[in-house]
Amino acid sequence: MRSGIKNLFLAFILTVGYFFNSYSQETENVMIVIIDGARYSETFGDPSHQYIPEMYELSNQGTIIHNFYNDGVTYTSRAIPALWCGAWTEVRDTLYNGSWTNYAVMPTLFEYYRKQKNQPAEECYYVLKYIPDLWLPSFDPDYGPDYWPEFQSMGSTDNDVAYQTEYVMDNFHPHFLWVYLADVDHAGHSGVWSEYTEAIINADQIVGQLWDKIQSDPFYANKTTMIVTNDHGRHDPQHGGFSGHGCGCEGCRHIQFLAIGPDIKVNNNTNQYRTIPDMAVTASHLLGIDPEKATGQVMHEILNSNSISEHNSKTSIVKIEKIYPNPFKQNTRIIYQLNGNKQVLLKIYDFTGNKIKTLVNEVQTAGVKEVDWDGSDNNGIILDSGVYPFTLKANNTIIYDKLIIIK
Ligand SMILES: [Zn+2]
Ligand SMILES: [Zn+2]
Repeated sequence: MRSGIKNLFLAFILTVGYFFNSYSQETENVMIVIIDGARYSETFGDPSHQYIPEMYELSNQGTIIHNFYNDGVTYTSRAIPALWCGAWTEVRDTLYNGSWTNYAVMPTLFEYYRKQKNQPAEECYYVLKYIPDLWLPSFDPDYGPDYWPEFQSMGSTDNDVAYQTEYVMDNFHPHFLWVYLADVDHAGHSGVWSEYTEAIINADQIVGQLWDKIQSDPFYANKTTMIVTNDHGRHDPQHGGFSGHGCGCEGCRHIQFLAIGPDIKVNNNTNQYRTIPDMAVTASHLLGIDPEKATGQVMHEILNSNSISEHNSKTSIVKIEKIYPNPFKQNTRIIYQLNGNKQVLLKIYDFTGNKIKTLVNEVQTAGVKEVDWDGSDNNGIILDSGVYPFTLKANNTIIYDKLIIIK
C-alpha cells in the first residue's frame, strides 16, 4: 500500500514535470500603463483602496508587488527612460527635427521588440497626450530610430489618452502598447489634495476601462498582459508633502506595481523588493525578447511557474542540453550550452521562491558546460523530496526549469 502511494506520488510528480516543460507562455500582447507620480500611500499602500477601486478589484486576478521602488532618480525625465530601457540609462539633449529634446542612450523595450521580432512600427504604439517635443528612444547603432514605436501623441488629458488608446486598439491592433497618463502628477503639483486624489481615481477608472477593452476584443482577450506602474511617487509629509517629488524619501521612491494576464499569478501579493529596471525586463520576457543591455531582472515570482520556460532555440545564447537524472535521489547533472563568453548565474530555489543554492556565478567561455548538484543547500544541508525551481542566467537571457528530488 505504501509503495503504491509512493508510486502514485512519483507518477504525479513526473506528470507535473512533463507539463511544466511542455507549456509555453500564453502572452501574445503587452500593455504597459504608466501613471505619472502617484504615491504608493494613495494606491496599494492605502488599506482602504479608496482611490483605486478598479485596480484593487483587478488585483484579484493578478499580482501586486508591495515593495516596488524607484531606486534611481525620482524625476520623470529620468525615470520614464529607465522604465523604457530596463536600466537607469543616461539621458542626453539633442536637436531633433528643429527643436531641442532628450533621448535615452540605451536601447528601449520598443527597439528590442521591433528589431528582435522584426515588427513594423504599427505593432508597437506609444500613446500619450500631445507633446510638441517628445522625449526620444535611443540612437544606439544596433537599434535606434528604425525601431522606434509609433507615437500617438494627441489630446491633453488622461481621458483623451484613454480614447486614443482604444482608437489605436480598434484600428491597428498592435501587439505592444505603452500608455502614458500624466494627469496625476500635474494635479499633485497643484498642491490641492482633492485634485490629486481625483486624478488618481480617474486614472484608476481608465485602467479598469482598458482592461475591459482588452478582454472584450478577441484579438487581445486572455492573451494580453497589462502592467500598471509609476515613474516616481511624491514626497512624504516629512519631506515636503505630496505637492512635490524628486528626492530619495520613501514617498518619492515607493511606487505601485500591478500585473494581470495569462502568465501572471492570480490573486497574488509579493513583498519581494523590486525596482523600476525589473519592469521592462519582465515585460521583455513576456514578449519573448532579450533586452541585452538592460540591468533589471525577470520577476519570476509574479509569473505562473508553468509559463516561464523559455523555448530553447539554436540562436539562444544559452540552452539546456540535458538534466540527468531528474527526478534524482542523490546527485544530478545539468548540461548546458553557451553561445559565447557570458556571465553565468545558476541559482536553485525552493518552492516558495527562496534562494537555497548558487551553483554557478562566474564568467564562462563558449561551449558545453556541466554542473553537478548533490541536493544540498548553501549550508551543505541535504534537502528533502520536492520540486526545486532553478534559473540559469547568461547575461540577460534567463532559462527557468526545475529539479525534482525523490528520496
Ligand atoms: Zn513623473
Ligand atoms: Zn521626496
